[in-house]
Amino acid sequence: MKRYTTLSLFFVLISFYTMAQKVNSSWNNNMVIAHRGAWKQNNLPENSIAALKQAIKLKCYGAEFDIHMTLDSVIVINHDHDFMGMPIATTAYQTLLTKKLANGESIPTLENYLKTGMKQKRTKLILEIKPQKLNQEIDLKLTRKVVAMVKDLKAEAWVEFISFGYDICREIIVQMPKASVAYLGGEVAPEKLKTDGLTGFDYHFSVLKKNDWITSAKKIGLSTNVWTVNSAEDMQWFVDKQIDFITTNEPELLFKLLKAK
Ligand code: MG
Repeated sequence: MKRYTTLSLFFVLISFYTMAQKVNSSWNNNMVIAHRGAWKQNNLPENSIAALKQAIKLKCYGAEFDIHMTLDSVIVINHDHDFMGMPIATTAYQTLLTKKLANGESIPTLENYLKTGMKQKRTKLILEIKPQKLNQEIDLKLTRKVVAMVKDLKAEAWVEFISFGYDICREIIVQMPKASVAYLGGEVAPEKLKTDGLTGFDYHFSVLKKNDWITSAKKIGLSTNVWTVNSAEDMQWFVDKQIDFITTNEPELLFKLLKAK
Protein backbone atom coordinates (compact mmCIF):
# COMPACT_ATOMS: atom_id res chain seq x y z
CA MET A 1 0.00 0.00 0.00
CA LYS A 2 2.76 2.35 1.03
CA ARG A 3 4.57 1.67 -2.23
CA TYR A 4 1.45 2.72 -4.20
CA THR A 5 1.21 5.96 -2.24
CA THR A 6 4.84 6.75 -2.97
CA LEU A 7 4.30 5.88 -6.64
CA SER A 8 1.22 8.11 -6.93
CA LEU A 9 3.06 10.96 -5.27
CA PHE A 10 5.87 10.46 -7.77
CA PHE A 11 3.44 10.65 -10.72
CA VAL A 12 1.69 13.72 -9.31
CA LEU A 13 5.07 15.45 -9.00
CA ILE A 14 6.02 14.43 -12.54
CA SER A 15 2.77 15.81 -13.99
CA PHE A 16 3.20 19.10 -12.09
CA TYR A 17 6.73 19.32 -13.42
CA THR A 18 5.53 18.66 -17.00
CA MET A 19 2.79 21.28 -16.67
CA ALA A 20 5.30 23.80 -15.34
CA GLN A 21 7.60 23.04 -18.27
CA LYS A 22 4.74 23.60 -20.72
CA VAL A 23 3.86 26.96 -19.20
CA ASN A 24 7.52 27.83 -19.18
CA SER A 25 7.90 27.04 -22.88
CA SER A 26 4.95 28.98 -24.26
CA TRP A 27 5.93 31.26 -27.12
CA ASN A 28 4.51 34.78 -27.21
CA ASN A 29 1.15 34.54 -28.91
CA ASN A 30 1.14 37.60 -31.18
CA MET A 31 1.95 38.56 -34.78
CA VAL A 32 4.85 40.91 -34.07
CA ILE A 33 8.25 40.17 -35.58
CA ALA A 34 10.93 42.78 -34.92
CA HIS A 35 12.88 43.33 -38.15
CA ARG A 36 16.65 43.10 -37.35
CA GLY A 37 15.60 43.08 -33.68
CA ALA A 38 13.86 45.97 -31.91
CA TRP A 39 16.40 48.72 -32.58
CA LYS A 40 14.67 51.83 -33.83
CA GLN A 41 12.86 53.28 -30.83
CA ASN A 42 15.90 52.99 -28.53
CA ASN A 43 18.43 53.86 -31.23
CA LEU A 44 20.23 50.52 -30.94
CA PRO A 45 22.32 49.05 -33.76
CA GLU A 46 20.30 46.80 -36.10
CA ASN A 47 21.06 43.10 -35.76
CA SER A 48 22.82 43.61 -32.41
CA ILE A 49 22.46 41.47 -29.30
CA ALA A 50 20.99 44.58 -27.63
CA ALA A 51 18.27 44.74 -30.33
CA LEU A 52 17.52 41.03 -29.81
CA LYS A 53 17.21 41.59 -26.05
CA GLN A 54 14.89 44.54 -26.64
CA ALA A 55 12.63 42.39 -28.89
CA ILE A 56 12.51 39.80 -26.10
CA LYS A 57 11.69 42.54 -23.56
CA LEU A 58 8.84 43.79 -25.76
CA LYS A 59 7.49 40.20 -25.89
CA CYS A 60 7.60 40.02 -29.68
CA TYR A 61 6.72 36.69 -31.26
CA GLY A 62 10.01 36.84 -33.10
CA ALA A 63 13.26 38.73 -33.61
CA GLU A 64 14.48 38.63 -37.21
CA PHE A 65 18.20 38.74 -38.07
CA ASP A 66 20.52 38.25 -41.06
CA ILE A 67 23.58 36.08 -41.32
CA HIS A 68 26.74 35.99 -43.42
CA MET A 69 29.91 33.90 -43.39
CA THR A 70 33.42 35.30 -43.01
CA LEU A 71 36.45 34.22 -45.06
CA ASP A 72 37.41 31.81 -42.27
CA SER A 73 33.86 30.37 -42.07
CA VAL A 74 32.60 32.15 -38.94
CA ILE A 75 28.89 32.90 -39.20
CA VAL A 76 28.09 36.45 -38.14
CA ILE A 77 24.99 38.63 -37.83
CA ASN A 78 24.82 41.64 -40.15
CA HIS A 79 22.38 42.92 -42.75
CA ASP A 80 24.68 43.99 -45.56
CA HIS A 81 27.37 41.97 -47.28
CA ASP A 82 29.78 44.58 -45.93
CA PHE A 83 30.48 45.31 -42.26
CA MET A 84 31.73 48.89 -41.84
CA GLY A 85 33.42 48.86 -45.22
CA MET A 86 34.78 45.31 -44.92
CA PRO A 87 33.26 42.70 -47.24
CA ILE A 88 32.37 39.88 -44.82
CA ALA A 89 32.86 37.00 -47.28
CA THR A 90 36.48 37.96 -47.95
CA THR A 91 37.45 39.18 -44.48
CA ALA A 92 38.67 37.10 -41.52
CA TYR A 93 36.55 37.19 -38.36
CA GLN A 94 39.38 38.69 -36.26
CA THR A 95 39.60 41.58 -38.70
CA LEU A 96 35.87 42.28 -38.32
CA LEU A 97 36.48 42.57 -34.57
CA THR A 98 38.66 45.65 -35.14
CA LYS A 99 35.46 47.68 -35.58
CA LYS A 100 32.59 47.94 -33.12
CA LEU A 101 28.89 48.62 -33.44
CA ALA A 102 27.71 52.04 -32.22
CA ASN A 103 26.77 50.63 -28.78
CA GLY A 104 30.21 49.09 -28.28
CA GLU A 105 29.25 45.51 -29.22
CA SER A 106 31.37 43.48 -31.59
CA ILE A 107 29.64 42.01 -34.63
CA PRO A 108 27.61 39.13 -33.10
CA THR A 109 28.36 35.57 -34.10
CA LEU A 110 25.47 33.21 -34.83
CA GLU A 111 26.58 31.08 -31.90
CA ASN A 112 26.45 33.99 -29.48
CA TYR A 113 23.13 35.21 -30.88
CA LEU A 114 21.48 31.78 -30.58
CA LYS A 115 22.85 31.23 -27.07
CA THR A 116 21.49 34.61 -25.98
CA GLY A 117 18.07 33.87 -27.50
CA MET A 118 17.98 30.45 -25.87
CA LYS A 119 18.11 31.96 -22.39
CA GLN A 120 14.36 32.50 -22.76
CA LYS A 121 11.53 30.64 -24.46
CA ARG A 122 9.04 33.33 -25.43
CA THR A 123 10.51 35.01 -28.50
CA LYS A 124 11.47 33.00 -31.60
CA LEU A 125 14.64 33.64 -33.57
CA ILE A 126 13.80 34.33 -37.21
CA LEU A 127 17.01 33.46 -39.02
CA GLU A 128 17.55 34.85 -42.51
CA ILE A 129 20.25 33.13 -44.56
CA LYS A 130 21.51 35.65 -47.10
CA PRO A 131 22.53 34.26 -50.50
CA GLN A 132 26.22 35.13 -50.76
CA LYS A 133 26.08 36.16 -54.43
CA LEU A 134 29.24 34.14 -55.09
CA ASN A 135 28.03 30.74 -56.21
CA GLN A 136 25.39 28.20 -55.30
CA GLU A 137 27.92 25.86 -53.63
CA ILE A 138 28.87 28.55 -51.12
CA ASP A 139 25.20 29.19 -50.33
CA LEU A 140 24.62 25.48 -49.71
CA LYS A 141 27.78 25.20 -47.61
CA LEU A 142 26.64 28.16 -45.50
CA THR A 143 23.15 26.67 -45.17
CA ARG A 144 24.48 23.29 -44.01
CA LYS A 145 26.79 25.00 -41.54
CA VAL A 146 23.95 27.10 -40.10
CA VAL A 147 21.64 24.10 -39.74
CA ALA A 148 24.45 22.07 -38.13
CA MET A 149 24.99 24.82 -35.57
CA VAL A 150 21.27 25.05 -34.78
CA LYS A 151 21.28 21.27 -34.23
CA ASP A 152 24.50 21.28 -32.16
CA LEU A 153 23.13 23.95 -29.85
CA LYS A 154 19.75 22.17 -29.74
CA ALA A 155 18.15 25.45 -30.84
CA GLU A 156 15.59 23.84 -33.18
CA ALA A 157 12.60 24.95 -31.09
CA TRP A 158 13.71 28.60 -31.18
CA VAL A 159 14.63 28.99 -34.82
CA GLU A 160 12.47 29.65 -37.87
CA PHE A 161 14.24 30.13 -41.21
CA ILE A 162 13.69 32.65 -44.00
CA SER A 163 15.66 33.31 -47.19
CA PHE A 164 15.60 34.99 -50.58
CA GLY A 165 17.44 31.92 -51.89
CA TYR A 166 14.95 29.30 -53.03
CA ASP A 167 17.74 26.70 -53.13
CA ILE A 168 18.70 27.71 -49.59
CA CYS A 169 15.10 27.18 -48.41
CA ARG A 170 14.97 23.75 -50.03
CA GLU A 171 18.35 22.77 -48.59
CA ILE A 172 17.19 23.69 -45.06
CA ILE A 173 14.25 21.30 -45.50
CA VAL A 174 16.58 18.52 -46.69
CA GLN A 175 18.85 19.05 -43.66
CA MET A 176 16.05 19.63 -41.14
CA PRO A 177 12.72 18.25 -42.41
CA LYS A 178 10.71 19.60 -39.49
CA ALA A 179 12.02 23.17 -39.75
CA SER A 180 9.78 26.19 -40.37
CA VAL A 181 11.00 27.66 -43.66
CA ALA A 182 9.50 30.70 -45.40
CA TYR A 183 10.57 32.11 -48.76
CA LEU A 184 11.11 35.88 -49.10
CA GLY A 185 11.32 36.36 -52.86
CA GLY A 186 7.66 37.12 -53.54
CA GLU A 187 7.29 35.55 -56.98
CA VAL A 188 6.35 31.98 -56.01
CA ALA A 189 2.67 31.11 -55.54
CA PRO A 190 1.58 29.42 -52.29
CA GLU A 191 0.67 26.12 -53.97
CA LYS A 192 4.20 25.76 -55.37
CA LEU A 193 5.75 26.58 -51.97
CA LYS A 194 3.62 23.87 -50.42
CA THR A 195 4.59 21.32 -53.10
CA ASP A 196 8.26 22.09 -52.51
CA GLY A 197 7.93 21.48 -48.77
CA LEU A 198 8.20 25.08 -47.54
CA THR A 199 6.03 25.93 -44.54
CA GLY A 200 5.14 29.51 -45.44
CA PHE A 201 5.93 32.78 -47.14
CA ASP A 202 7.33 36.07 -45.91
CA TYR A 203 6.63 38.46 -48.79
CA HIS A 204 6.96 42.19 -49.39
CA PHE A 205 3.75 44.07 -48.66
CA SER A 206 3.42 45.34 -52.25
CA VAL A 207 3.22 41.71 -53.50
CA LEU A 208 0.56 40.74 -50.98
CA LYS A 209 -1.57 43.81 -51.69
CA LYS A 210 -1.78 42.82 -55.35
CA ASN A 211 -3.10 39.25 -54.98
CA ASP A 212 -5.04 37.06 -52.61
CA TRP A 213 -2.16 34.84 -51.57
CA ILE A 214 -2.83 35.32 -47.84
CA THR A 215 -6.20 33.60 -48.23
CA SER A 216 -4.93 30.85 -50.51
CA ALA A 217 -1.90 30.16 -48.30
CA LYS A 218 -4.05 29.88 -45.18
CA LYS A 219 -6.35 27.42 -46.97
CA ILE A 220 -3.45 25.04 -47.58
CA GLY A 221 -1.90 25.49 -44.14
CA LEU A 222 1.04 27.74 -44.97
CA SER A 223 2.15 30.43 -42.52
CA THR A 224 1.89 34.01 -43.78
CA ASN A 225 4.27 36.83 -42.95
CA VAL A 226 4.83 40.24 -44.54
CA TRP A 227 7.86 42.60 -44.63
CA THR A 228 8.59 45.37 -43.81
CA VAL A 229 5.44 47.10 -42.63
CA ASN A 230 6.11 50.32 -40.74
CA SER A 231 3.00 52.51 -41.03
CA ALA A 232 -0.12 52.08 -38.88
CA GLU A 233 -2.26 52.19 -42.01
CA ASP A 234 -0.43 49.27 -43.66
CA MET A 235 -0.34 47.35 -40.39
CA GLN A 236 -4.12 47.69 -40.09
CA TRP A 237 -4.57 46.48 -43.68
CA PHE A 238 -2.69 43.26 -42.90
CA VAL A 239 -4.35 42.80 -39.49
CA ASP A 240 -7.72 43.00 -41.29
CA LYS A 241 -6.48 40.40 -43.79
CA GLN A 242 -5.71 38.16 -40.78
CA ILE A 243 -2.12 37.59 -41.77
CA ASP A 244 -0.22 35.45 -39.25
CA PHE A 245 2.81 37.73 -38.80
CA ILE A 246 3.93 41.28 -39.56
CA THR A 247 7.65 42.00 -39.74
CA THR A 248 8.29 45.61 -38.77
CA ASN A 249 10.86 48.18 -37.71
CA GLU A 250 8.14 49.58 -35.42
CA PRO A 251 7.14 46.71 -33.08
CA GLU A 252 5.96 49.18 -30.41
CA LEU A 253 3.54 50.79 -32.88
CA LEU A 254 2.16 47.41 -33.94
CA PHE A 255 1.62 46.37 -30.31
CA LYS A 256 -0.19 49.67 -29.69
CA LEU A 257 -2.45 49.10 -32.68
CA LEU A 258 -3.21 45.51 -31.63
CA LYS A 259 -4.07 46.61 -28.07
CA ALA A 260 -6.42 49.31 -29.36
CA LYS A 261 -8.52 46.76 -31.22
MG1 MG B 1 16.44 40.25 -43.07
